[in-house]
Order: sequence, then structure tokens, then C-alpha cells
Amino acid sequence: MLDARRAAPIISAGAAPSGVPATDTRRRNMRDLRISITDRCNFRCIYCMPKTVFGRDYPFLPRDELLSFEEITRVARIFVAQGVSKIRLTGGEPLLRRNIERLIEMLASIPGLELTLTTNASLLAKKARSLRDAGLQRVTVSLDALDDLTFRKMNDVDFPVAQVLEGIAAAEAAGLAPLKINMVVKRGTNEHAILPMARHFRASPSGAGHIVRFIEYMDVGSSNAWKLDEVMPSADVVKLIDREMPLEAIDPNYPGEVAERWRYLDGGGEIGVISSVTQAFCASCTRIRLSTDGSLYTCLFAERGHDLRGLLRAGQSDAEIGAALGALWSQRADNYSEQRSAATSALKKIEMSYIGG
Ligand code: SAM
Ligand code: SF4
Ligand code: SF4
Repeated sequence: MLDARRAAPIISAGAAPSGVPATDTRRRNMRDLRISITDRCNFRCIYCMPKTVFGRDYPFLPRDELLSFEEITRVARIFVAQGVSKIRLTGGEPLLRRNIERLIEMLASIPGLELTLTTNASLLAKKARSLRDAGLQRVTVSLDALDDLTFRKMNDVDFPVAQVLEGIAAAEAAGLAPLKINMVVKRGTNEHAILPMARHFRASPSGAGHIVRFIEYMDVGSSNAWKLDEVMPSADVVKLIDREMPLEAIDPNYPGEVAERWRYLDGGGEIGVISSVTQAFCASCTRIRLSTDGSLYTCLFAERGHDLRGLLRAGQSDAEIGAALGALWSQRADNYSEQRSAATSALKKIEMSYIGG
């Protein structure tokens, strides 16, 4: 595991000209940066950080390995100069990072940046207001079931669903909207929770509702013992909901949007489905990920990262680092989901809790 986290040197040869946002080998731009700000989490979701692997003696990163807030903000500015327009803070559980509000304040001062965060919402009721005040614009909440029994089985730390719902209400009250809810569907474990989730979060005459996005269970990392027959294809999720609450497909909000959008015909708002397994969206993938300790990953399913922290701490200028990022991106050819197979699933890939969801 520690070996997989050892990053390769960042590519610096053949740097792209500065000031010109790079495109990769498939003409994809670099638009979305996901920053993992901690590899720790207070949940042990069975599909992400199973207790069998992430036990008491798991070697989480020591504090001095983490990028500081100053380093993260510096990197963010350099990325924005390279064409990034959206940053999502993630983890692990990002709300566990001490003084996250300070980091948000620092990032929010960068002009032209959309700033958002993905959370399990366990601490959101307490923090929604201060996050909003610091300059956070929106949140995405992960929630895999509304019934307590299934939710506790999914998070595997006996965390009650009521507290997540309180967090969602607090985020709404604080103006962190529009809120999205992510549900990972694992066949045999929580597919019975799909309809209750759709019903609960759809818009009604008394409220605006929230967009639920049903995510196909993925073979990220090497810990979750992923099996293809535990994936429920998004097409089946749509069919199931459509039978009770008729849906129609609608256009994406912008080119390259990951979630496919569906609208309730009766005006009850919309849902999304994210089909990384059954319908790869690599062709329009504009995402890059920065791990907690400063390694860059140009694909969620990468086996190795590139050592950005080394450049930051070696006294390189912003222009030099920007040129190295451009060069790295211009050589990118990632398309894991297009070639997924039993053999690729068995590769030693980096964990999602480390690289960021
Ligand atoms: N802890 C935060 C949370 O759960 O929202 C942020 C990090 S988490 C790694 C980000 C997202 O990845 C969550 O929505 C989670 O459900 C999703 N995720 C984790 N493992 C997954 C898997 N094997 N397949 C699909 N989605 C997964
Ligand atoms: Fe933690 Fe999020 Fe992974 Fe669940 S999905 S274990 S909440 S990092
Ligand atoms: Fe992007 Fe890699 Fe996912 Fe394809 S598999 S969509 S390249 S992160």
C-alpha cells in the first residue's frame, strides 16, 4: 500500500508554453481539480474503506506529509492559471481536517473559481454555517440509504442516518445550494433503498427537493473486493424509478458533465446517474486529482501519481510548476473505464480515500 503511494517525478520535459491551457492526447482540457485534504475518515463504507483493510493499525499519512493550506492555495492558483475553473475538496472525510474553514477562505479569494466539497455530512450540521461564511459555494453529500439499518450497514460504524439528514437541512438553511446527494448502489446491499431515496428527495409542492445521483459501484482502489455482478447498471436504476415516477432524459448542463440527467415528467425535479462501469465517460474527462500528500493523479484508477510536493518544496517558481503541469497534462492518455476488465480490476490501484472521490 505504501509503495503504491510513492509518486513518480513529475514530467517536466517538453513543457507546454505558459499561458496556454494544455490539452491532453485526446484533446481534453484540464478543468476540474479535486483535492484530497485528509486520507482519514470516521466512516468505514464497505465499498471504500472496508474495516478489514482500514483497521486500527492502518498507516495513515503522518501530519508533516500533508500539504499545508499555503501549499494547497498556491497550487490552486497555479492550476487556475492552467485553465482549472472548479475545485472540489474531498478525502477521506474533508470536514475532519482541522480549520478547514481557513483553507476555504484562502481558496475562495482566488477569482473565477467554483469551490465545492463532497462530504459524508457527519459533521455538517455543526459546520454548514461556518463553511458558507468562509466562502464555500455548494456541497455534495454522500448518502447510501434512508433506512437506518441499511445506512449503518453501508457506513459500518453504526452512524445514524438522522444525523446526515440534519446535516443536509443545515446546509440548505446555510445557503449551500443547490445540494446534490450521491448514492453508491451496490447490488445485494442497498438497491432496495433506490426508490425511497428518489421519493424522499424529489421536489414536492412543499419543497424544492435535491438532485440524487445514483453512482455505479466502481472498482476503485484494491481493497473493496469489487465484483462486476455487484454493479447495478444505471439503466436498471432509471427503469426502476421510471416505472413509478416517469422520467425523461434531458441535456447535460455543460459538455462533459459526468452525470446523465433525467427529469420527472410531473415536475418533481431531476435525478442523475453516473455510469462509470457500463458507459465510460473518459472521452470527456477533464479531471485531475491531488492527493493529501501532494501527488497528482490524472485518472481515478491510476497506479502511480506524480510528485508535485517535491516541486513545491524544491523552490520552483509558479511559472516552472505551471509549465510542468501543462507538460504532464499534454502527455495524458488515461481511459481506464474504456478498457476495464477482470485483469485491470485486479491491478494495485490507488485508494479512493487517499486520492479523493
Ligand atoms: N468522505 C466523503 C464522502 O463520502 O462524501 C468524500 C470522499 S468519498 C471517497 C467521495 C465519493 O466517492 C463518495 O460519494 C463515495 O460514495 C464515492 N465512492 C467511494 N468509493 C466508491 C466506489 N467503490 N464506487 C463508487 N463510488 C465510490
Ligand atoms: Fe469515508 Fe467517504 Fe470513503 Fe465513506 S466514501 S469511507 S465517508 S471517504
Ligand atoms: Fe477520467 Fe480515468 Fe475515470 Fe476515464 S477512468 S473518466 S480517464 S478518471
